[in-house]
Amino acid sequence: MKGLESSGLGMENIDASKEIHDCTQVRGMSSDYVDGELEAQTSGGIIQHLQGCPPCLAFIESLKATISLIKDPQGKKAPDGLRARLIERLRGAN
Ligand SMILES: [Zn+2]
Repeated sequence: MKGLESSGLGMENIDASKEIHDCTQVRGMSSDYVDGELEAQTSGGIIQHLQGCPPCLAFIESLKATISLIKDPQGKKAPDGLRARLIERLRGAN
């Protein structure tokens, strides 16, 4: 029964980013991604997804632009309620 203990634990993924294939998932994490709040592995997976998915790339770009517009000059985040509403609007528009 050798080999079982080395499989399925995700050890092989520690250094590799895991590509995310689901657009809904990417867009769901987009605001954390833009804020740089995701783990390196997760944001790496998003970057890989964006390279092959122009619609999600466009979504992230417009989200980035929107968030930078509503950020205050000290670089503090916009209020969560406002951000949430804007993100909802972007999602609806796509
Ligand atoms: Zn996508």
